[in-house]
Amino acid sequence: MNLSRRITDIIGQGSDGWDLFRKARGMIAAGIPVTELTIGEHDIRTDPAILAAMQASAAAGATGYASIPGIPALRAAVADRIARRTGVPTTPDNILITAGGQFGLFAAHQAACDEGDRALFIDPYYATYPGTIRAAGAIPVAIRAEAASAFQPRAADIAAAAAGARSLLINSPNNPTGAVYGPRTLTEIAALCHDHGLWLISDEVYDTQVWDGTHLSPRALPGMAERTFVVGSLSKSHAMTGSRIGWVCGPAKAIGPMTDLATHTNYGIPGFIQDAGLFALGLGDRFEEGIAAPFRRRRAITLDLLARQQIVRAAPLAGAMYAMLDIRATGLTGEAFAEALLDAERIAVMPGESFGAAAAGHVRVAMTLPDADYAAALARLLAFATRLAQQGPPG
Ligand code: PMP
Repeated sequence: MNLSRRITDIIGQGSDGWDLFRKARGMIAAGIPVTELTIGEHDIRTDPAILAAMQASAAAGATGYASIPGIPALRAAVADRIARRTGVPTTPDNILITAGGQFGLFAAHQAACDEGDRALFIDPYYATYPGTIRAAGAIPVAIRAEAASAFQPRAADIAAAAAGARSLLINSPNNPTGAVYGPRTLTEIAALCHDHGLWLISDEVYDTQVWDGTHLSPRALPGMAERTFVVGSLSKSHAMTGSRIGWVCGPAKAIGPMTDLATHTNYGIPGFIQDAGLFALGLGDRFEEGIAAPFRRRRAITLDLLARQQIVRAAPLAGAMYAMLDIRATGLTGEAFAEALLDAERIAVMPGESFGAAAAGHVRVAMTLPDADYAAALARLLAFATRLAQQGPPG
C-alpha cells in the first residue's frame, strides 16, 4: 500500500542533517565517551516547584479533557506577558495554547497558507522549518541570510522572492546563528510584509535569551498585529522542553479556526501541564533570568576563548543557546570539520550545513554543558582547528 505524498514528503530528499548526531549517539551506545554539544536543551531539568504544581494539579483532578484553546487563566497570563513585554494590547482571544512552539509553527502555517502556497523562511534555519511548512501543505522557499551580514536577512533578498508568497517565517533570537534582529531589519521586514501582503510568522521561543541588544517583537511595529503570528514556548524560557507547552499569539479572528485545527489534531494540552505552565509563568522575570544565566556565562566563556586565537570566529553570539563558529580558516566544510572533530577529539557539534547552505563552513556549538566542561570542550575544539589550519587537513 502506498503512503500519501503528504506524509512521505515531509522530509525532503537526501540527508535530514542529523547524520553526525546519530553517529555520536551510536558511539555513546557502543561505550565510547563523546562530549555532546549538539542539541538545544538545558543541562538542568524542570524546576521541582513547577513539577510540584503539575503533580498537585493532576492530584486535584485536572486529568480530564482540558479546554482546547487553553484554560482561561493561562491564556490570560500569556496575553498579559506579551502585552507587558511588547506594549501591544493583547487579550486571551489572541492566544492559542499549543503543544510547544513546534505545534505553533505548524498551526500558524496552516492558518496562513493554502495548499501549494509559497512560504518563505530564512536560511540558516531551525531544522524543522521546511518540513513543518510541507506538513502544512505549503512549499518552503529559503532566503539566505549571509554570514558576511552577521546573518541578518536583507529585505531586498526577501522582496525578490515575495511575489506570490503567502507567509514569511523569521526567528529572532535565532537558532542556529545566535543573531538577534535589530530594529532596522525588523522595520524593513514589516514594510515588505505590507507591500507583498505576507503573513509574518515570528518564532520568538528564545525571547529570554538575549545577550547583546534587546528582543524586539515585530508584532509591535505599526500595523503588524493583524498580520503577525508570534510563536512562543515555555521550553527554553523555563526548561520545560518535555512538557510540550507553548502558544501562538495572533489576530482573534484567526484563533477560532486555529482552535478547530487543535480540536482535530491533538485535542488540546493536558490540564495539569497547562496548570504547571501557569505556575511557571507566575514565577516571574527573575526566575526566567536564572534559567538563561548559564548560557549568558557560557557565551562570555566563548568570547574569552575565541579572543585568544585567530583561526575560529564567532558570528554573532547575540542571543540563544548556541555559538555558530566560522571554521573556514581550517579549509574544511562544516560537515568535514564536525566529522574530524568527532573522530579525533570525541566532541560532537552540528555541521552548519545541517541548517542550510548559508551556514556552510560553520559549526553550531550548543552551550549546554556545565561551565567547566563546556570551556574544556571548546578549548579542545579551538586547539584542533588551530592544528588543522597550521598543518592542513588530515590526508
Ligand atoms: N523554534 C526554534 C527556533 C527552536 O529552536 C525550537 C526547539 N529547539 C522550537 C521552535 C520548538 O520548540 P518547542 O516545540 O519545544 O517549543
